[in-house]
Formats: sequence, structure tokens, C-alpha cells
Amino acid sequence: MFHLVLFGPPGSGKGTQSVRVAEKFNLVHISTGDIFRREIREKTHLGVKVQGIIERGELVSDELLIEIMESTLNQHPEVAGFVFDGFPRTLRQASDLDALLDKRGGEVDMVVALEVDDREIINRLLKRAEIEGRKDDTREVIENRIAVYNSQTQPLIEYYKKRGQFTPVNGIGSIDEIFASICRVVEYYL
Ligand code: ADP
Repeated sequence: MFHLVLFGPPGSGKGTQSVRVAEKFNLVHISTGDIFRREIREKTHLGVKVQGIIERGELVSDELLIEIMESTLNQHPEVAGFVFDGFPRTLRQASDLDALLDKRGGEVDMVVALEVDDREIINRLLKRAEIEGRKDDTREVIENRIAVYNSQTQPLIEYYKKRGQFTPVNGIGSIDEIFASICRVVEYYL
């Protein structure tokens, strides 16, 4: 089983690229952001619980995340592997993911990180706000999401670097160019 984490700041293009990577390498794409947005849309118990948190650009609790992750993995017993998009986002989530995969006889095989600077990110997210109207894409919330990323998520870079799993990829360019770079590093690994 192949476990790929697609890592990067908000607006780095993880979602777009994860879908394509999953399709090409026959993996199941798990986006925690998409899971939460669906729950919110369907007004489920979980959706109601996380809506405010997400609209403020804060992080949902680690406990909830690992619960969701475990049940999502269990929904796909016979697959070639997974692409994680938007997870892990804290050190605690990273070690929970290690434990979860270990229990299943696997591990995080590779972390591909899309590198995009803050200015480009803010521009992309503001543009997405005009097109998709996501409630967490206002300037104030975007700035908060970037601050949360810098304080809570960025430490994961060191965590995975130490294990030799961290592979940076230039996240600026056309969608096709970035996809080609990701494919190159994944194919090199496989
Ligand atoms: P982005 O476009 O900023 O990468 P996502 O679509 O991945 O955002 O997620 C949207 C929101 O859902 C996040 O800002 C956060 O509130 C919540 N969320 C998603 N994944 C996680 C996670 N792993 N841990 C905590 N909260 C999360």
C-alpha cells in the first residue's frame, strides 16, 4: 500500500493536484476539507459542530480528525493506497497518522510539498473567493489560515525532513507543469 501526503499551505493547489495524482496512480483521494464541506452542506451533526471553526479559519480538533481518518480508511479496504490532502496539519495528527498506518501494516511513504509564497497564496485565495464563494476565503480569514498554517502545520516540514520523506516541488506554474513535477518525484520513488 502506498501512502502519499500532499502537503502545502492553503491555496497551494493540493486539492487540484491530489485528484489528478490519485487518478494517475490509482489511489484513493482523501481531502479532509472536502469531507468537512460535505458534512456542513448536509447539516450533519459533525457539520454543525465544525462549521464555525472552519469559517473562522481555525483548525478542527485533532481527536475528531483521527476519528474521521480511521473511519475513512476503513471504508476502502482493498485499494492500492491513499493520497492525503489537508491532513496531517499538526504534529499530533502526524503522529496519530503514523500510529494508524502502523496498525494497518503501512506507513507514510512520501510527503510531496507544494511550495508557494504568501503573496501568491493570498491572490489565489481571493480569486477563488470570487469564483466559489467559500466562506473561509475572505481576506481576514485567509490571513488567519496562513497564520495557523505557519504556527501549527509548518513544523511538520522538519518532522518529515528528519525521516527523509520530505520532497519539495515548485507550486508555481501551470497546473499541468506542477502535475508533471509531482509525477516525476512519485515515479522516482515507486
Ligand atoms: P485549504 O484550502 O486552506 O487547504 P481545506 O479545504 O483543506 O483548506 O480545509 C478547510 C478547513 O477545514 C481548514 O481551514 C480547517 O478549518 C478544516 N480542516 C481541514 N483539514 C483539517 C485538519 N487536518 N485538521 C484540522 N482542521 C482541518
